[in-house]
Parts: sequence; C-alpha cells; structure tokens
Amino acid sequence: SVFCKKLPKVELHAHLNGSLSTKTLRELIELQKPLSDNSDATWNIWEAIIEHGQKRTLEECFQIFGIAHSLTTTPATVYKATQDVIKEFVDDGVRYLELRSTPRNVPQIMSKAQYIQAMVDAIQGMTDDQILVKLMVSIDRRQGKESASETVDAAVVAYHQNPKIIVGLDLSGDPTKGLVSDYLPVLARGRNAGLKISIHCAEVPNSDEVEEILNFHPDRLGHCTCIHPLHGGSQELWIKLLHSHIPVELCLTSNVKCGTVENYKKHHFIHLFTAKHPIVLATDDKGVFATSLSEEYVLAANSYDLSKEQLWKMTMSSIDYTFASEEEKNRLKQMFMQIKELSD
Ligand code: 5GP
Repeated sequence: SVFCKKLPKVELHAHLNGSLSTKTLRELIELQKPLSDNSDATWNIWEAIIEHGQKRTLEECFQIFGIAHSLTTTPATVYKATQDVIKEFVDDGVRYLELRSTPRNVPQIMSKAQYIQAMVDAIQGMTDDQILVKLMVSIDRRQGKESASETVDAAVVAYHQNPKIIVGLDLSGDPTKGLVSDYLPVLARGRNAGLKISIHCAEVPNSDEVEEILNFHPDRLGHCTCIHPLHGGSQELWIKLLHSHIPVELCLTSNVKCGTVENYKKHHFIHLFTAKHPIVLATDDKGVFATSLSEEYVLAANSYDLSKEQLWKMTMSSIDYTFASEEEKNRLKQMFMQIKELSD
C-alpha cells in the first residue's frame, strides 16, 4: 500500500459532493450552524451519519449526498469543499485530477455560473507543481432537459472564460430515473462548443440505453457495469463496447458498496483488463464510500494479482485518457517517468 500511495496517479472520476471527507463535512457543519435554522435533532443525526465513516450502511452512504448538498449552498462553501478535496487528492499522490460537479442554483444566494466560478477559483489557488486540476460540469439526469440546457449554457460560458480549466461535461445521477436520449442533444451542443463528454453507462441493465450511448460515442464512459453477458448485458453490446475503444472509468469500491457488483473478484475490471480495453481506476465518491485512489490501486493489485510493473503501466496509460492538452499530457508522462526512474 506504500507503493500505491507513492505511485503518481491520475483521477478522472470524482464527484465533488461525494468526495468530501469527514473532516471537511465536520468543518462545514461548524460554519453553517450559526447561520441555519436546522433543529439540534437534525444536526445530531447528520453528525452521527458523518462520524460512522467506514461503517456507514448503504442507506447512510446515500444520505451523505443530501447532507453534503445542504452544506455546499454558497460560493464560499463550494470553494472550501473544492479546495479540501484537491488537497486530499494531493496527499494521496494524485498528480492530475478531473473533478466533476453538478452546479446548483440556490435562489438569492448562488447561480449555476457562480457555483462553477467558485470551483474555478479554488482550482486556480493550487500550484501546478503540486497537481494539475481540471473541471467537468455534471448534468443530473433526474433534473430534466431544461435544467440540463441551463447547465450546458453556464458550462460553455465558463469554458470560454477558462478554457484551460473547464474541459468537459458528465451525465450522472440516478440511473433508474430519466432517459439518456433526452440529454444527448444538449450534450452534443456542449461537444460542438469544444467540451469533452463522459457518460455514466450501464450502472443498471438497460441495453437500449447502452446502445444509444455507444452510438453517441462519448470521449469516456463511467462504470459500464452491466454490459458483459455475465453481468446482465449481451455478447453483442460487449463487442460493441470493445470495438468502440472508449476508455472506461472503473470504481471498484463504489460498485461493490452499492451492490451493483457482487465482490471485487467478480468486478468487470477483469473482463476489460483481459481484453486490453482502455481503463482507468477511479474513486467516484471517496468521502461517501470511505476510499482513496491508492486504496483502489491496492484493491486492484490484490484482487487481480497485478505486478508493480502492471500498476505503473495502468497509471501511465491513464494519462492518455485525460482531457488535458497534448502538451500537458507530455509533461505528465515525463514527470511520471522521472518518478519511476528514481524509484527503480
Ligand atoms: P455533485 O455533482 O453534487 O458534486 O456530486 C454528487 C452527485 O454526483 C450525486 O447527486 C449524483 O448526481 C452524482 N453521483 C455521484 N456518484 C454517483 C454514482 O455512482 N452514479 C451516478 N449515476 N451518479 C453519481
């Protein structure tokens, strides 16, 4: 595990509000208490859920999203949340991070544009020698087409102002709600404006949706849990995924804790890895699921018997799947190679 922590890493699938640590949530509560009209009983319940950490039940895991959202309703708290998460990834050996978040409009307090700007400000506060950070703007498939369209408008404006920071759009949210087909036109609009696209795909079995997503050809895919014939998909869809060569973001702990995958040995990682399909390990929600990117590398190494050389290869190839510029990718590769040479 020391090896995995020291390994320079690339994180490409991390949701801001799911990534908040117990420490950050505690601090946000202290900031919010004097300003809020929550009852003592509400604070006590929230604090108990937050303190459960690793021992949280699945239900509590999902409650954390609601709590985190209630604690990040101003530009100042979004800024703090973003900065804390970035620093924690730095401490874990992450050298390149694409953080994603669903901008929220809080009446009288914060617009979606201000939410995005608060994240950009926090990212600009980090120095390049620690970590390179980019932002992906998420669309929540529960919130409807109109909200998605507003989000893309705000993302495109922010992208023109900060083309080196804002890199893409993500489609996420409850996979059992809403239709992906409703959101593809608005994602296409973002793509035409220059943004890259990553879509959460096949978290639950849904062949028609997988087909639509693959035909859209996003730049990356999240999860792809139920595509292999052994996991509720089909041979035809599986082959279509492999032929697409679209890199897949894999979140081992998140999938096992949510119960969409039975255990680590049965995770679809192994099918994609064996097929030499482009994959990248990711945390998804390091706060909610009490994990870190090094922990995900340890889990992969132990579950699939990977050598140190294979872990190096995985982290190096992840650079190719980032939405960084070619120049940034080359710089990252050189930096990773130097660290490897020093450690050999
Ligand atoms: P936020 O976008 O508010 O920063 O992060 C939390 C949000 O990310 C959740 O409300 C949800 O929309 C999305 N999210 C986090 N984890 C997952 C996941 O595993 N699957 C899906 N589909 N969406 C997720």
